[in-house]
Amino acid sequence: MDRHLRQRTLASIGAAGQRRIAAARVAIVGLGATGGAIAELLARAGVGRLRLIDRDVVETHNLARQRLFTDRDARLARPKAIAATERLRAIDPGLQLEPAPVDLTSRTIDDLLGPLDCVFDGTDNFETRLLLNDWCVEHGVPWIYTGVVGESAHTLTIVPGRSACLRCYMPEPPPPGSVPTCESAGVLGAAVDVAAGFAVADGLRLLVEGPSAVGGRLLVADVWHRGARSVVVERDPDCPCCARGQRAFLRAAAVREAEPLCGRDAVHLPAPPGFDGALSSDRLEALAQRLRAMGAERVRCAERLLHFEAEGLALSLFPDGRAIVRGTAEPARARSFCARWVGR
Ligand SMILES: [Zn+2]
Repeated sequence: MDRHLRQRTLASIGAAGQRRIAAARVAIVGLGATGGAIAELLARAGVGRLRLIDRDVVETHNLARQRLFTDRDARLARPKAIAATERLRAIDPGLQLEPAPVDLTSRTIDDLLGPLDCVFDGTDNFETRLLLNDWCVEHGVPWIYTGVVGESAHTLTIVPGRSACLRCYMPEPPPPGSVPTCESAGVLGAAVDVAAGFAVADGLRLLVEGPSAVGGRLLVADVWHRGARSVVVERDPDCPCCARGQRAFLRAAAVREAEPLCGRDAVHLPAPPGFDGALSSDRLEALAQRLRAMGAERVRCAERLLHFEAEGLALSLFPDGRAIVRGTAEPARARSFCARWVGR
């Protein structure tokens, strides 16, 4: 009962505020460094229902910044959504946690987001953020943009119908290579914590005081040079999304090309066109047996994932039909490897 005593003591939250936090339903999209920090802060703050969405598996190089994961998670290449859920459940067994090891696309977003009080952005790309923006503006759900690169942290709370949306601030995604990324500029873990802290504080205020209390101010902090400023972002009366009602990213075809994963020797292969539904455990187990017979190494099915190694590459197949091939950054090589061994 006393778990949230210090938080309830705050004049800004109080007993009534804590009850609203406990009754809230929130999603976090992306469970890397920023999303993981956000998820842990929300769980410890007592947010009652957390949906944890991430398409990826844990790797050793994640462990320097991504606090929810352990060396064992990386050795087993566990899905981040599953490993994060286990970690948060150990922190507070009373929370309702909903893991979703699924790729968020225009095809899956309705199923993944549903009725929510707020969505947190833990992604690393503007394509997904603009898709989130389209969905949240369409459904009137507040969301909190968070970006970290180098030593700087950015966050903007978006309350549809009241404050600027992401496209008011950034009409189009920046062309590839035009802005610094974590790959080109690196990332300081302390900046991640500052961004997560500001984002979660605004999210809790939204839950406690309502949407009119937040939104419309972009927070930019440089933790290395000890500078922070809060900039008003005005609504654009001609914004393609929140003024003119276009939902270009929501309407875009969900079928995407194979893509190299940022800064890694890995390629993400989306589910094949027309694939709808889920691979059953039986089908994955049958495929595992066939792979062993074909000479694949370290074949195992765990937590509804199939892993194997062959030809110096490693493949993880998800039940939703996606695959991640590690050991190459070339989409063509990854695709032909997957076709040879998995038959698609
Ligand atoms: Zn807008």
